[in-house]
Amino acid sequence: MNANQASTQLTPLAHQKSTQPVVQLQDISLAYDAHQVLKSLNWQLLPGQVVGLLGRNGAGKTTLLETMLGLREAATGTVTLFDQPVQSLTDDNRARIGYVPQQSDLFQGFTPRQLLAYFRSFYPRWNEAKVDGLMSRWALPLDLPIGKLSGGQQQRLSIVRALAHEPDLLVLDEPVASLDPAGRRDFLRELVDQVLERGTTVIFSTHILSDLERVAFNVAFLSEGRISVQAPLDELLDQVKSISAPESVLQTWVSRHGGDVLSKKKLDNGHARWLVRLSTPIHLMDASIEMASVNLEDLFMELTQ
Ligand code: ADP
Repeated sequence: MNANQASTQLTPLAHQKSTQPVVQLQDISLAYDAHQVLKSLNWQLLPGQVVGLLGRNGAGKTTLLETMLGLREAATGTVTLFDQPVQSLTDDNRARIGYVPQQSDLFQGFTPRQLLAYFRSFYPRWNEAKVDGLMSRWALPLDLPIGKLSGGQQQRLSIVRALAHEPDLLVLDEPVASLDPAGRRDFLRELVDQVLERGTTVIFSTHILSDLERVAFNVAFLSEGRISVQAPLDELLDQVKSISAPESVLQTWVSRHGGDVLSKKKLDNGHARWLVRLSTPIHLMDASIEMASVNLEDLFMELTQ
């Protein structure tokens, strides 16, 4: 093994130990004509994080992922992947990314066998045993034209292709959109298990909450062009409370107890309901305030308006 080969092989491990962000977006803005989709967005992902990117249809998830990968140019801001500006990513760093776009109509005339052979030629780190294992476990035919596979099969094939070169960063745009509801969560779980061992950083976008419940360790909410909140899902469910009372009472309560106000809503009875993230548990002493826990659906409804 020469010095170059040694350094190529050591890079991923050295990288996983680092706490440098794998992805860093700073002040990213992007508009389609007059429609501003991303607004001074900041986001960073650390090595090994598994993040579900949540947002409503049209919130800009695909736009954000494409911008992150350098497939779209932002009007302002910088994108850094593996400590390099995305526009000048080296081939070595580019080969550390796996990307599953929402839809890909490419290669419809190829068979999966031909497609995989084609991609194998580009990547030094291609794991044939993993490809064989996934193709058989997910019962994907090797010799039918890709155009004849179902949407779900094509999506799985796209994921096999993205995992085959053992990426350090895996970006999946609605990876289970074509799968039936029963299979979605188990499939995602399996997908994440595939990459956990290697410490791969994973981002997958979704607007389907059940996809996240057993899979995403972190959730990031995209709303109004920004990442409004990012945190471990368990921690959020534990820390975020809904508090209701007249607004002035809520204001006093929050200034006394602290906590981040994540959203505010006026209620019909003259009261307001706020979602507050509390860093320390608080035992409610104030009878004029109603406090309740929230579930993921509440968070989604309030944080992705
Ligand atoms: P999401 O993935 O969250 O559904 P998208 O990033 O696909 O959101 O789209 C964000 C917004 O930008 C939507 O309103 C969409 O209609 C608009 N949009 C997306 N792509 C284009 C494009 N190429 N040209 C013009 N508008 C676009």
